[in-house]
Amino acid sequence: MLSLATRKTLKCQIYLCHSVRYLTTVSGRKRLVILGTGWGSYSVLKNIDKKQFDVTVISPRNHFLFTPLLCSTTVGTLEFRSILEPVRNFGFRKLEDFHLSRATGIDFTKHVVHCESALKPGACYDVEYDRLVIGVGSLSNTYNTPGVAEHAFFLKDVARLYKGKKDSVRVTLVESNKILGSFDKRLQKFAEKQIQSRRGFTLARDLVTGVYEDHVVLKTGGKLPCGLVVWSTGLAPREFVRDMDIPKNPRGQILTNRSLQVQGDPTGQSYALGDCADIVDMPLPCTAQVAERQGRYLALLLNNRTSEEFKFFSAGMLAYIGGYQGLTDLPQGKLQGFPSWFLWRSAYLTQLGSWRLRMQVPVDWTKTLLFGRDISRLE
Ligand SMILES: Cc1cc2nc3c(=O)[nH]c(=O)nc-3n(C[C@H](O)[C@H](O)[C@H](O)COP(=O)(O)OP(=O)(O)OC[C@H]3O[C@@H](n4cnc5c(N)ncnc54)[C@H](O)[C@@H]3O)c2cc1C
Repeated sequence: MLSLATRKTLKCQIYLCHSVRYLTTVSGRKRLVILGTGWGSYSVLKNIDKKQFDVTVISPRNHFLFTPLLCSTTVGTLEFRSILEPVRNFGFRKLEDFHLSRATGIDFTKHVVHCESALKPGACYDVEYDRLVIGVGSLSNTYNTPGVAEHAFFLKDVARLYKGKKDSVRVTLVESNKILGSFDKRLQKFAEKQIQSRRGFTLARDLVTGVYEDHVVLKTGGKLPCGLVVWSTGLAPREFVRDMDIPKNPRGQILTNRSLQVQGDPTGQSYALGDCADIVDMPLPCTAQVAERQGRYLALLLNNRTSEEFKFFSAGMLAYIGGYQGLTDLPQGKLQGFPSWFLWRSAYLTQLGSWRLRMQVPVDWTKTLLFGRDISRLE
């Protein structure tokens, strides 16, 4: 005999299963399920032909996040909401077409995604698909370094408000290899020089072996006292991807062919893109640029507007290194310093996903220029 609570939970789960099935089969259109609302998935969502597909998006995040400007929000140059785009702005047919849930598994043979509600942990249900796009991104790799998860933070304070303290602030950038390794050597040197020349900044070529509440331990035996640690290293697969029993590369990314079809899916109806995936014999960097282009390509492929394989031509790279200094590494040439910073800002401004954000971000920049950064701490 089932308890009342168990029966209620089961009823809820069965209801969710049924409602999803009903919603995704009546229209006659193919059912496209998109996992994630990041660069890759959002790009598919924006470009997919909604006349051909009933689109369901499943993600624990109900917005798209413009990651290149994320650092500006952690130090108060930009408002966090200025770099978010709610995914519901992209023409869903029905309220139920967006699920605030995480995918927990896929049955590739039965064309079913297993999900768990992000609002009601433990409420699990299935969603059927005709085509599936996997764009769940990745996690920051801690390389099992003890203490990182417990003690790493984002930088938030600014000198304007703590004049008395600013001379005692020290920033150490620990990097085991070269900083900005994918940039041209001349630009790397420029960045190194700029960082070293900033008062209180040090560049340490070393490996972190442990993070503690008030210090960081380095491989060479050094011990760095600190009040705040920002951890930004390589990528690691999410548990959902780790648990999938399909071919992956040594970094745990899902292997696909050049049409982005998941290897190991016998039906060929699932696709993976962005940071969670790797095209066999076509290594690409894990960047927003790659994920966004793959999303656009996949939408064309699914819309039957192309039958070609995915090709990638890098549009170049831009980076901001602080103090109104930037790096530009384009096929047409290299640029550094203030003009490059200006290009960086202009380029990202035009790439923001909507006119709302393109209006909001310059307003924030102007506010910061006139009144300084907003360092309110939001718990
Ligand atoms: C601070 C920062 C700055 C960056 N700056 C740049 C830059 O300047 N230029 C550049 O090219 N790249 C930059 N990147 C890298 C870029 O953001 C990533 O390469 C890009 O986000 C990858 O896109 P994606 O779609 O694969 O994954 P993401 O954008 O990470 O999106 C993954 C999505 O999947 C969802 N998800 C997670 N788990 C599940 C699940 N189980 N089920 C369903 N959905 C799930 C997440 O909520 C999220 O919506 C930066 C990254 C960071 C963190």
